[in-house]
Formats: sequence, C-alpha cells, structure tokens
Amino acid sequence: MTGLTDRSSKSSSALRRRRQTLLRQLPPLDAILRGSLIERYKRCGKPGCKCADGPGHGPKYYLSVSFPGERPQMDYVPQEELAATRTLVANFHAVRTALEEICAINRELLRRREAL
Ligand SMILES: [Zn+2]
Repeated sequence: MTGLTDRSSKSSSALRRRRQTLLRQLPPLDAILRGSLIERYKRCGKPGCKCADGPGHGPKYYLSVSFPGERPQMDYVPQEELAATRTLVANFHAVRTALEEICAINRELLRRREAL
C-alpha cells in the first residue's frame, strides 16, 4: 500500500483521496510525544533488601528524548501516566508515518506535473 511502485500506479485522484484519508486519521496533534519509553530497575543498596538478589526495584519508566548533538534527556514517568504516555508516543509515530506518506504522494503529484 505504501510502496513506491504502488503509488506510481495509482491515479492522481486516488492519491488525493488517500491523502485525505491520511489526514482524517491523524491523531490529535496536541496528543503527541516524541521519545521512547524505557524500563529501569534499581538496586537500593539497603543492607538485607531482597532487591540485592534480583534485578532491583522496578520497573520504573522513563521517557528518553534525543536531540542532535546532545545526550538524551530522561524524564521519569509515574505509573499512573504510563498508559497515556504510551498512547502519546504511539501517536507521534503515527503522525510521522502519515506525514511521510503525504509527502511521498505530493512528490508523486509534483513529478506528474499535477496540481498539488
Ligand atoms: Zn532494595
């Protein structure tokens, strides 16, 4: 569906319809979050704590966001925000994928010298 050959075999009106569909299916743009959720376990270091024998206390979750030329920034995600955070991260990927496909459609229309 997203392959280049497939796109170039479609009529321009089919491409425009596909573009409309992508637009309609976009998640709300205020509900996106770039980054990845990572899981951490920590040993507390208290003498005799059972965590010394295992991976440590956890899992605790962090949102890791990278920036060009910088170390990734890590933000603690409280358990009660975990599900919502996962959704926002997934939304960001959905938006990015949709934008890529819309750009590819527009590039194809440009190649055909068709109205954008
Ligand atoms: Zn412990």
